Amino acid sequence: MITIIFGPPGSGKGTQAAIISERFNLPHISTGQMLRDEVAADSELGREVAPIMKTGGLISDETMVRVIENRLGQPDAIPGVLLDGFPRTVPQASELDEMLERTGREIGVVLFFDVPEAELSKRIAHRAEVDHRADDTPEAFLHRMREYEAKTAPVVGYYEGRGTRLEYVNGNAPIEAVTESILTIFGPQQKVNQRAQGEVA
Ligand code: AMP
Repeated sequence: MITIIFGPPGSGKGTQAAIISERFNLPHISTGQMLRDEVAADSELGREVAPIMKTGGLISDETMVRVIENRLGQPDAIPGVLLDGFPRTVPQASELDEMLERTGREIGVVLFFDVPEAELSKRIAHRAEVDHRADDTPEAFLHRMREYEAKTAPVVGYYEGRGTRLEYVNGNAPIEAVTESILTIFGPQQKVNQRAQGEVA
């Protein structure tokens, strides 16, 4: 089962995906992190994407579909994954649907993180001081927001049209409260499992 974590830059997708992935022992697939690793390794792909990422632009659908298809084909991804940062355009979403259909898998839920833009820019300014990400400058953040509105936000309408389960998460809340809302969406059984795992850990 695939869970998609979806939302604007700075909405807490990465933070929540890391928490949920650890609790449920699900691979956390962050396309942004995969690309940053390629940049750090100075691979051919890394050299191709670095200048685009730095300005806050989106990498081509063709490249991203190739990257994600490769990753979803790995054995650890077969039982289920958390997708963070993919899909980011309607063509990516429709390619993902085709890919999953071919391999007999499906999207369980799309979690849409809702956070007001003023809060996002505050968070990114804070992250810029802590993480030193190349794309957390004010200019790159603005570009990412505009890319999000123009190309990524329409993915919500795509999933509504497909009848894929879409759940809104109030991302403008403390980290623990957001995690709790996600666990509620996953359902009571999931919560029980998660508590049981917490007790043995
Ligand atoms: P993130 O860590 O998810 O904020 O992604 C950082 C950057 O990686 C984005 O601003 C894009 O330049 C690139 N990126 C990550 N995922 C995608 C994607 N699915 N499509 C296009 N570009 C992406």
